Amino acid sequence: MKILVINAGSSSLKYQLIDMENENVLAKGLCDRIGLDGKFVHNANGEKLEMDHPMPNHAEAIKVVLAHLTDAKWGVIKDVAEISAVGHRVVNGGEVFVEATLMDAEKIDTLESLTEFAPLHNPAAVTGLRACLEVMGADVPQVTVYDTAFHYGMPKTAAIYPIPYEYYEKYGIRRFGAHGTSHGYVAGECAKLLGKDIKDLKIVTCHLGNGSSITAVDGGRCVDTSMGFTPLAGVLMGTRCGDIDPAVAMFIMNKENLTPDEMNNIMNKKSGALGLSGVSNDFRDLDAAASEGNERAQLALDMFTYQVTKYIGSYAAAMGGVDAIVFTAGIGENNNVMRSDIVKNLKFLGVEMNEEENSKRGEARVVSTPESKVKVCVIPTNEELAIARQTLAVINK
Ligand code: ADP
Repeated sequence: MKILVINAGSSSLKYQLIDMENENVLAKGLCDRIGLDGKFVHNANGEKLEMDHPMPNHAEAIKVVLAHLTDAKWGVIKDVAEISAVGHRVVNGGEVFVEATLMDAEKIDTLESLTEFAPLHNPAAVTGLRACLEVMGADVPQVTVYDTAFHYGMPKTAAIYPIPYEYYEKYGIRRFGAHGTSHGYVAGECAKLLGKDIKDLKIVTCHLGNGSSITAVDGGRCVDTSMGFTPLAGVLMGTRCGDIDPAVAMFIMNKENLTPDEMNNIMNKKSGALGLSGVSNDFRDLDAAASEGNERAQLALDMFTYQVTKYIGSYAAAMGGVDAIVFTAGIGENNNVMRSDIVKNLKFLGVEMNEEENSKRGEARVVSTPESKVKVCVIPTNEELAIARQTLAVINK
C-alpha cells in the first residue's frame, strides 16, 4: 500500500510517496514558487531532477507531481491508482478536528473556517486538499493530520489561560501547541528504542529547530507543551521571543506607536536568537560568532540552554518524574554541545551523558550512560512517516 504525503504551503508543496509495507520513501520532492515562475524538484530511483516548471496554482502542482510519480524515467509507480490515500499536514485543527480525519467537501469547508487559528498555514492545506480532490477524484481518501492533535487531550490545567473564561468560550483561546506530529512520533520511537511500553514512560520530548517546542508525554499522552495559542510561546527561538511578560508588548507598542500587526511581526520575526544577537537566527552562525567572542551571540545560546533546561525540569515536576529526555529536529539532532550543556544542568535528576555516544552522528540512539537514571535519546524526527502512519490508521478503520 502506498501513501502520498502532502505538506502544502502558501506557494509551495512538499510531497513524499511512502510504501507502507516497509515504510520506504519511494519518491519525494518540492513544488516551489507556485503561482510565480515555478520550480520543481523530484528525487526518485537514486536520482534528482531539478527544473523550472510553471505551476499557476496548487492543482497544477499536484498534476506535475502525479505525472512524475508515473513517468517512465522518473516514476516509481505505473498508475496513479496505486496511491491508496493522501495524507495532508494541517497546522491547527482548532477544537473541531482533534484527530486525523477522513475529509469530504463539507469537512474541507469546515477546515476553511478555522483559518483564523493558523492564518498562513491552514489556507494552504485547504488549497492542497481541494487540488487533490479535483485532480485525483473523490475515490482516493484524503486524510488530514493535525499538528495540534497530539496535544489536544492535555488537561485543562495546562490548556486554559488565566484570562476571563468567556474568551475561551467565545473565541476558543487556549493552548493548542505545535509540532505535535513530531512529538508523538519521537515519543513512540523512544519507547521502541528503550524496549518499553510507552504507557509506562514519562518522557520529555524536545523538538529544537528554527521553531522549538518541548512536550511532557506521560504514558504516551501529551500532558503539557511549551507552545501555546500560537507557536510564539515557550522557549526563545530563531526569530520568535517565546514566553515574555505580555505587558512588554503593550509597553513597546505605546512607546513606538506600533499597531498590533507590527508588534506581532517584531515578536515573531525579529526577536529570539536573531533579536538578541543581532547576528543570525541560525544556531550555527551563533556558534561561529560566539567562538569569535561575540557576547550577544553567546548570550542567546546560553539563554536557550537555560530555558530548555527550565522546561525539562518543570515538566519532570508536572509528571512527578521523568524516565527519558528526547532531542530532535535541527538543533536537537545535530548540536551535541547544546545537548551536553542541557543535560549537565539536569544532573540533579540523576541524568548522565555518555559524551562519546553524544558526540557521534547517526540514527536514533541512547546517548546517556547505562547508569543514568534518566535516559537521553537522540531521535531524528520524521513527520512525513508519522503522517503516513496516521493516514493508514484512518483508512484501515
Ligand atoms: P525548522 O524548524 O525550520 O524545520 P530545523 O529543524 O531544520 O528548522 O532546524 C534549524 C536549526 O538547526 C538551525 O538553527 C540550525 O543552525 C540548526 N542545525 C541544522 N543543522 C545543524 C548542524 N549540522 N549542526 C548544528 N546545528 C544545526
